[in-house]
Amino acid sequence: MELTWIEISKEALSSNVKTFRGLVGKNVKLAVAVKANAYGHGLVQTSEVLLKAGTDFLCINALYEAETLRMAGIKAPLLIIGYTPLSDLKKAVELKCDLTVYNLETIRELGKIGKPVNLHLKIETGNHRQGVKPDELPKVLAEFKKHKNLKMAGLSTHFANLEDRINHKYALYQLRQFKKAYRILEENGHAPHYRHSANTAAAILLPEAHFNFVRVGIGAYGLWPSEKTLLAAEHAGINIKLTPALTWKTVVAQVKDVDKGALIGYGCTYEMPKNGRIAVLPIGYYDGYVRLLSSKGHVLIHGKRAPVIGRVCMNMVMVDITHIPNVKLEDEVVLIGKQGKKRVSAEEMAENSQTINYEVTTRINEMISRHLVD
Ligand SMILES: *Cc1c(COP(=O)(O)O)cnc(C)c1O
Repeated sequence: MELTWIEISKEALSSNVKTFRGLVGKNVKLAVAVKANAYGHGLVQTSEVLLKAGTDFLCINALYEAETLRMAGIKAPLLIIGYTPLSDLKKAVELKCDLTVYNLETIRELGKIGKPVNLHLKIETGNHRQGVKPDELPKVLAEFKKHKNLKMAGLSTHFANLEDRINHKYALYQLRQFKKAYRILEENGHAPHYRHSANTAAAILLPEAHFNFVRVGIGAYGLWPSEKTLLAAEHAGINIKLTPALTWKTVVAQVKDVDKGALIGYGCTYEMPKNGRIAVLPIGYYDGYVRLLSSKGHVLIHGKRAPVIGRVCMNMVMVDITHIPNVKLEDEVVLIGKQGKKRVSAEEMAENSQTINYEVTTRINEMISRHLVD
């Protein structure tokens, strides 16, 4: 028996994919980002469900993910959105990956390889992460033209702060820069078929950013990019429902009566205020249940919330179950997700550990099994 495991709802994933298909329409390619182990949901199983539900492209960060997906028999189009080292380009081409490019060196090296490959040129529009600055475009295009095997399949950019603002001024500025870059390409005789800029927040809030290809991540897993995005959508009258797909579970490893005044865990940071009962859970910060949740997090047992008391250990956590009768050894515990009528959301865990829902699900240890459930 596993000490901890994750259940991924096929129905939730499929319904989210359909929601985004509805938002962007059938003429726009729907790419889903499955980087970071499909945002912690399990790369291969999740990808299979997403594709079956109508996803057109999978976006991955790095070559090893392409190797894993191809080994699993997945033939869908893959777009590497992260950096591919020059020495890995040959392998990426062999695995039929589309590549995001923004360096002259990458274009030269791909030219040398000589095999057909689809490139998505990334434009710097204000995020100051990856991307070619518009004034560098002529040089990049000149290099590109030298190599007949290279196809300019797409032009892309990425928004800097759509999820942190109600006001989209900066995103609209980025879009203008992006359109300018597209014009430069057209004038130089390149008109990439795909243009893409939209992440989840833009897919929901900015139809003008859809073009003919969107790259949805967090929303496909049923999570909102931020509270602000949710509020902005409601404000704009966009009524969509996203269903969280992930439930993280463990079991009770010990039940113990403790006296008033007992000190719980390392550092003796928590003192029992009265006689009570605790449960020891066999998960800890190694699993991705981070130490910031010490005396802050909550778990669900018998459909009730049980607070984490004392410090989260490497492989153990203690929770107060004084108010929950009849808890027994190996009773099921929900760390993220629903049990009965109660839920511990990724957002709640994010707030209790000073981060965002993205980090909560992606930091769950990859060694933990992910099981698809109906
Ligand atoms: C991760 C990522 C996305 C998806 O972002 P979400 O906010 O999760 O929708 C889209 N585009 C790029 C380039 C990314 O790195």
